[in-house]
Amino acid sequence: MDFGRRDLLLGSAALLLANSTAARAVPTRKLGYAIVGLGGYGLGVIIPQFVNCTHSRLAAVVSGDRAKATRVAAEHGLGTGAVYSYADFDRIRDNPDVDIVYVCLPNAMHAEFTIRAARAGKHVLCEKPMAVSVAECEAMIAACRAADRKLMIGYRCHFEAYNLEAMRLARSGAAGKIRYVRSEHGFIQRNPAVWRLKRALSGGGSLMDMGIYSLQAARYMTGEEPVAVTARESTDRRDPRFREVEDIIDWTLEFPSGAIASCQSMYSAAQNHVLLMGDAGRIELEPATRYTGNHMWLGEDGREKAVTPPPGPRVTQFAGQLDHMSESVVAGRQPIVSGEEGLRDMRIVEAIYRSAREGRTIRLG
Ligand code: NDP
Repeated sequence: MDFGRRDLLLGSAALLLANSTAARAVPTRKLGYAIVGLGGYGLGVIIPQFVNCTHSRLAAVVSGDRAKATRVAAEHGLGTGAVYSYADFDRIRDNPDVDIVYVCLPNAMHAEFTIRAARAGKHVLCEKPMAVSVAECEAMIAACRAADRKLMIGYRCHFEAYNLEAMRLARSGAAGKIRYVRSEHGFIQRNPAVWRLKRALSGGGSLMDMGIYSLQAARYMTGEEPVAVTARESTDRRDPRFREVEDIIDWTLEFPSGAIASCQSMYSAAQNHVLLMGDAGRIELEPATRYTGNHMWLGEDGREKAVTPPPGPRVTQFAGQLDHMSESVVAGRQPIVSGEEGLRDMRIVEAIYRSAREGRTIRLG
């Protein structure tokens, strides 16, 4: 059963229910994760988070760098039997210690490793963006379904206290009827050699990386699905960083309620901002979706007050995400940010690129 859309639309209410004592199937053991790709996110951010988890632990590492992987495994009390290369990754099917494979690879490798993991009998948590095309997302969902495995996308903001509270406030009418959303994310991409600037590995530029946050926030804050998108790309192609992918891209989403979202992503300036304007006030987050240090204000223009949200489901959003996946596996329940949710974003991403390319509004099905 696909809970993805319904749960996204219910937003924090669904998460609160999923985390209530009554609804939670409490795992009797910590589920084992294999982290695939020991880079900035997998090694630098996710692996250190297992200490904050209740139901999740590190069980294996998968890397192209054997020495690094062996060192990381040893640091976490794992032997060489818990170390895999990309070539021998499929052997993971014989490792009962691994329940869930967490794909933290460049975007164009997400589909391959999700499908291989599912075929090896493992549940999959895959980083954002889910993949680089709608066709890949559909193949990933089909592979997990055929193997009867859960698939979740690393949309960590659904486990982050400020975003959960903003969703709750927006849905409860704290700012009145939401009429207009601004959602903007970017950072300065300084390294011209990084895979994020190579189309074959990234699938696209700032939209695939930071724009996913802008798009996700517009959807989960309003609880609506857009019916049309109009986009425009602004990239200085003389800049050697942007020979293959876009720098700045703006897009407008039209929602069935009449609300409009003006979204943006860029690789040439830092920004992290979400603004919801209703007919009775505004909810503003800046920064909105960072790892830590987010801020939020609620009120009428000029009279906003800072809001401190109640704690999220775990001490960090990352631990909340990992434990939600573990609980979903044990309960046999679809994660609240499922593969279908990643697919919905990718359909819109393809429409954004198409709109920018063709210079016209694209209606969404
Ligand atoms: P990094 O470049 O820091 O790490 C990627 C890792 O992937 C590398 O260290 C390497 O690991 C492995 N890899 C395998 N093949 C290649 C290749 N051809 N080129 C480069 N790396 C390769 O990227 P990130 O960790 O920042 O990003 C990984 C994924 O996580 C992306 O999809 C990104 O969008 C997502 N992400 C999500 C974030 C979030 O907040 N949810 C934040 C940051 C990233 P090894 O050396 O072990 O082989």
